[in-house]
Amino acid sequence: MLQRKPIFPNVIELNVQAGHLIGCNVYLIYDADEWALIDIGYEDSVEEVIDLVRELDFPLSKCKALIATHADVDHSQGFSKAKQLLKTVVVAHPNAAKLLEAGDRLQTFAEIHAQGISEAMPPVSVDKHVNDGDIIRVGSLELEVWSTPGHADSQLAFRLNKLLLSGDNIYRDGGVGAIDAHHGSDIPSFIRSLERIRDAEIDWLLPSHGPYFRKDPEMINRVLDRLRGYLHLSDFGTCAIDWPLIQQWEQEIAEGRLPS
Ligand SMILES: [Zn+2]
Repeated sequence: MLQRKPIFPNVIELNVQAGHLIGCNVYLIYDADEWALIDIGYEDSVEEVIDLVRELDFPLSKCKALIATHADVDHSQGFSKAKQLLKTVVVAHPNAAKLLEAGDRLQTFAEIHAQGISEAMPPVSVDKHVNDGDIIRVGSLELEVWSTPGHADSQLAFRLNKLLLSGDNIYRDGGVGAIDAHHGSDIPSFIRSLERIRDAEIDWLLPSHGPYFRKDPEMINRVLDRLRGYLHLSDFGTCAIDWPLIQQWEQEIAEGRLPS
C-alpha cells in the first residue's frame, strides 16, 4: 500500500504520486471509493498507472470513467488498453470521440512523417460525449465541463471548485498547446478560451503537461498579446487571419517604391 499524496483535496496527479515522470499529467479525481482519470498517456505506461491506482487502495471496479481532455496521442493512446483492463467507460468531446474511435493518426499527432514520428493509435469506443456545461459526477464531486477550443477543436477543461484541470490550454512557462493547422488549431478560439480562463473565479490551473500553478491574469494577458500577434503574422501559416505585410508590399509595388 502506498500513501496517497493529493496535490489538492480529492485530486492526485500520478506523476507527482509516482515521484518520477511517467508521461503527460494524469489526474485521479476521487471521492470515497469512486474515482476517475483525466487522460491516460501512452499505452506503455497504462500498466504502471493502473498498478499505482491499485497500490493507492482504490478499488479498480470503482473507476467511474476515463476522461479525455482531447485526442492527442500522448494523452490518449492508452485509453483502449485501460478501458479493457478497467472495464469502464470513456468520456470525450464529440470531436475527440471521432478521432479516438477512428484511431486517427494524423490529427492526433501520432503520425508526423516529416519528423519520423509514427505511433500507434489503437481505436477506442467512446461511451459518453460531453460538452460545455455538462457535469461529470465522481462520488459527490462535480466536475464542470468547459469546451476550450484553440489547441484542438475538442479541447476540454474541467472545473472542480477553484481548480481548473486545464488541459493543453496554457502551461506554467506561458507556453500554450501547439498551434497547428493540420491539428484543427484555431487562434481566435484559443484567445477566447484563454480569456475565459483568465476571467473565471479559479485559483489554480492544473495543466496536462508540467507543473500546476496559481492563475496569474497578468501572465495570461502577456500570452494573449502573443497570440493576438500571431493572428497577423506568418508564424502559424493558415492559422493567421490576415497578413498586413502583404498589403503594405502591394502598396509599395504600386507606388514603384525602391530601396532608398
Ligand atoms: Zn498535450
